[in-house]
Order: sequence, then C-alpha cells, then structure tokens
Amino acid sequence: MSRQISELRESVARLHGELTRYGLVAWTAGNVSARVPGHDLMVIKPSGVDYDDLSADNMVLCDLDGMPVEGELSPSSDTAAHAYVYRAMPEVGGVVHTHSTYATAWAARGESIPCHLTAQADEFGGEIPVGPFALIGGDDIGKGIVSTLTGHRSPAVLMRNHGVFTIGRTARAAVKAAVMCEDVARTAHLTRALGRPVPMAQADIDALYDRYQNVYGQRSSPPANS
Ligand SMILES: [Zn+2]
Repeated sequence: MSRQISELRESVARLHGELTRYGLVAWTAGNVSARVPGHDLMVIKPSGVDYDDLSADNMVLCDLDGMPVEGELSPSSDTAAHAYVYRAMPEVGGVVHTHSTYATAWAARGESIPCHLTAQADEFGGEIPVGPFALIGGDDIGKGIVSTLTGHRSPAVLMRNHGVFTIGRTARAAVKAAVMCEDVARTAHLTRALGRPVPMAQADIDALYDRYQNVYGQRSSPPANS
C-alpha cells in the first residue's frame, strides 16, 4: 500500500500544476484529491500552501472522515466535502474544486450552463447543473455535490455563490472535467453576450455523449483519461 500511496502523492501534487496551467485558480484556492483504491483513504492538498511549493511530500493522507493520518500539514479546508463525496459515491476516484472565473460567474448567478456546444455534450452530456448554497465546514457542501450529481451525466456542479466541484473515476479525469467546465462556461458566457444560442436537439446531445464516452480516444486508454 505504501507504494500505491506514494504514487498517488506524486500524481495529486503534479495534477495541481494543471490548475495553474489552465488558469483555474488564484493564490492558494482550489484543490485536487484522489481516493486510495481499496482503502478508506484519500490524498489531498495541504491547506494554504503556495502552488509552487506543492510536492508529493507535503500532500496529506486522510481517512474518509477527513482526518489526517499521515503528514505534518493540515489538509485543505475543503477536505470534509471531498471526504463526503468519496463516502457517498464509491465509483468516484478523484475530486477537484476551483473558483475558475467563468464557471463561478454562472454559479454566482445560480444559473446552470445550458448545452449549446458539441464539446459540452461530449464531456457533460447536457447542462452543467447548479448545486445549493452551502457554508464550508460541515457536510453541507458534500451533501450538495452528491445530491446534485447523483444520477446526473455531468461530472461538474456549480455550487451556488461559490464555485466548481468536479468528480471522476480518477483524479486526472476530475481535473479534465474542471478544465472543460471552465472552457464551456467561457464560451457560453460569450454566446450569451453576443446574442441567442441556437438550440441543439436532445437526440444529438445524447448521440455525442454516447460516442465520446464509449468510442472516442485511443483504444488502449481508459475513457477516464481520454
Ligand atoms: Zn471554494
């Protein structure tokens, strides 16, 4: 198990670099976590550490109640939300949180992002939904994420007046969903500013989603890494 954990520490630390590379985070906001497969454990970013200083060594190993079991630093202040998602959704292997600008502007208005783009149909299978307003600290954010995404195609939820949470089979898949969420939110914003979007037929959205989830990409890669 220790090799598995050290590999996850490495990959979770590295995936935080994607949040800065794609401009999804400011200062120390935002976080990535990964479940330790087969164990009630997760690896998550430490609280309040600069992105430039993140490394495998300072990632925090926590149990699925959000309590640290290894590491000297306190875990991210969003740890309770990540832990709640892992407890409630056994298929989820990675969780990401950002306040990325365009997606969070939709969250601030409490408006879901309607699906008017093939790329959104591919990744999200339709609208990107809004979740409830919830204060940080207890299980409320986690409950809001789980209640909104359970039975929903979208791996991303816009938590009202807050920001984006994404889930995936792996941490990398959840990071990809966070990147794509901001990308479609930006285009949806411009579309709204320029005029009226042209609706897409539900059958076309369904066909795009099915193809992307089941056929797209290299055959040797799992879909989560497409
Ligand atoms: Zn936040």
